[in-house]
Amino acid sequence: MLIVMNPHATPQQLEAVCERVQALGFRAHVVGGARCTAIGVTGNSGEVSPAPFEELPGVSEVVRVTRPYKLVSREFHPDNTVLRFPNSATIGGRELAVIAGPCSVESREQIFTIAEHLVSRGVRFLRGGAFKPRTSPYSFQGLGEEGLKLLAEVRDRFGLLIVTEAMDESSLRLVERYADVIQVGSRNMQNYSLLKLVGRSRKPVLLKRGMSATLEEYLLAAEYILNEGNFEVLFCERGVRTFTDHSRNTMDLSVIPAVQQVSHLPIIADPSHGTGRRDRVLPLSRAAVAVGADGLIIEVHNAPDQALSDGAQSLSLPEFDRLLEEIRQIAPVVQRSVSSDVTANAAVAR
Ligand code: PEP
Ligand code: MN
Repeated sequence: MLIVMNPHATPQQLEAVCERVQALGFRAHVVGGARCTAIGVTGNSGEVSPAPFEELPGVSEVVRVTRPYKLVSREFHPDNTVLRFPNSATIGGRELAVIAGPCSVESREQIFTIAEHLVSRGVRFLRGGAFKPRTSPYSFQGLGEEGLKLLAEVRDRFGLLIVTEAMDESSLRLVERYADVIQVGSRNMQNYSLLKLVGRSRKPVLLKRGMSATLEEYLLAAEYILNEGNFEVLFCERGVRTFTDHSRNTMDLSVIPAVQQVSHLPIIADPSHGTGRRDRVLPLSRAAVAVGADGLIIEVHNAPDQALSDGAQSLSLPEFDRLLEEIRQIAPVVQRSVSSDVTANAAVAR
């Protein structure tokens, strides 16, 4: 249920409504929209009667939210959510978010070489895993905190915002300290205790779609995060499992408009994991931008053939340049732009 306050409601009236919600044993989530403030009510197992709220001073209307997910839905928040960052980058606004970097942080030389290249092309976000969810326990598992420290150095030097994965509670405690965006990987999309923990974090969360998750399961996974108080969530389509054997996964591009129709949260595309093949990343990136994705996350490596993880799907630096050039041309067709401002990151660099 959603309690919409009238535009002239006072802070005291808002507070009184929240207290009434809590007194009935529910949770109150205050959201400020462009036009007015609303209070989302969750924690109810059945239908909540609007009667105790309708007559309170300052209340304009009480709206039933018909979807199983509440806080992520557009019924709750009709305007798009735009995530805002210190280097003036946004996710979910007009500018496409381009997140690029290696699958894993491997060494100082590797991450600095890649970061220097990306920043010279106007990229604002650097990806790089320090804790890696690998299929085999014998594969490279990431550098752990040492990798996070290298990412922090890169942030200080170049002003790139850091996107990196937390796999569990202990890695989250570390990742939270170093990252600008916490990634929750596909395999953890339904790890509800991790979702609750990132929901209590103050950092934005990039929530990857589980490889066999339906739209509703995906939205409800995000609902866990919002329900704990963190409204800064970003969806990411990274391919789903199908019978296909010509690529690692099948990019479900149609989920992008499907998410945008029912949710106010941004959604980006990951054609690297979505295809698993370097030669497919550019075509699927074009398509993702054309379909209306709010951004891309792309694996890029200075020596892809020597990469310690996901080399086969990593673009070389010149291949990444070409991708950027192409999406810069496609973006205006869908009323988007791609930053080429190489000075914007200075605000984050120290
Ligand atoms: C990754 O981003 O490197 C990764 C492991 O992604 P996913 O969780 O989508 O497999
Ligand atoms: Mn990867």
